[in-house]
Amino acid sequence: MEMFKTILVPIDMAHVIEGKANIDIAAQQASSGAKIILLNVVEDIPNWAAVEIPAHLIEESVTRAQTDLQAIANATGMKMDVEVRSGHSYKTILEVAEEKQVDLIIIASHRPGLQDYFLGSTAAKVVRHARCSVLVMR
Ligand code: ADP
Repeated sequence: MEMFKTILVPIDMAHVIEGKANIDIAAQQASSGAKIILLNVVEDIPNWAAVEIPAHLIEESVTRAQTDLQAIANATGMKMDVEVRSGHSYKTILEVAEEKQVDLIIIASHRPGLQDYFLGSTAAKVVRHARCSVLVMR
């Protein structure tokens, strides 16, 4: 099988401390020559709120996420691209996958600690709708 050339690694900041399985495997793939794009989506209408978040709060969150995601990339010691977008999480993940023509998405199955879950809601939608291969890390 030909190696995956461009790999999208969606990262939920709230998951990073306990669960970094997809970051570890991304670092491994980077070391064998793949282009890695770390992506965090700052949700403009999070699933816990019925209303849109004010624009200035989103901007602050995007800036913070950029710093945090860059730190995560740096910690791997590998060269990686860092992308932060605001929008709806799974839709934005799929949009970036198309835009950057990635051939693999490496996603975590669900938030750490929820072992009874089969797939989290974002992971499930990405698996169902992605047009490229998806690797689900457990
Ligand atoms: P849960 O419902 O248990 O929180 P999710 O399906 O939301 O599980 O999360 C599983 C994985 O989906 C995360 O570890 C991450 O890889 C990806 N993901 C979820 N939300 C986001 C987000 N806002 N930005 C980037 N990736 C995300």
